[in-house]
Amino acid sequence: MTTTTQFIDGTTDWFICSCGNQPDADGFFSCLADGTIVSPTLNGDWDGTFYICESCQRIINGATLAVVGSARRSVAYRNASFDWNTY
Ligand SMILES: [Zn+2]
Repeated sequence: MTTTTQFIDGTTDWFICSCGNQPDADGFFSCLADGTIVSPTLNGDWDGTFYICESCQRIINGATLAVVGSARRSVAYRNASFDWNTY
């Protein structure tokens, strides 16, 4: 299977997802490569690379702005019950 890597809009200083989501709308959260939301500051789980779009669940490499995939349903389900007190 051949896929073309998607990139989100890189013309601004902030993220604009391919779905139109921006930081002042639904926003983005730091996550692991599979889309699992992790705190950007606590526990050291986050390596600073990936963000998930809260609107469409696309997973974005913050360094390259490449869309690396979408969170699987099981991951999205887990994110939906994320304890924001631990973010
Ligand atoms: Zn999106």
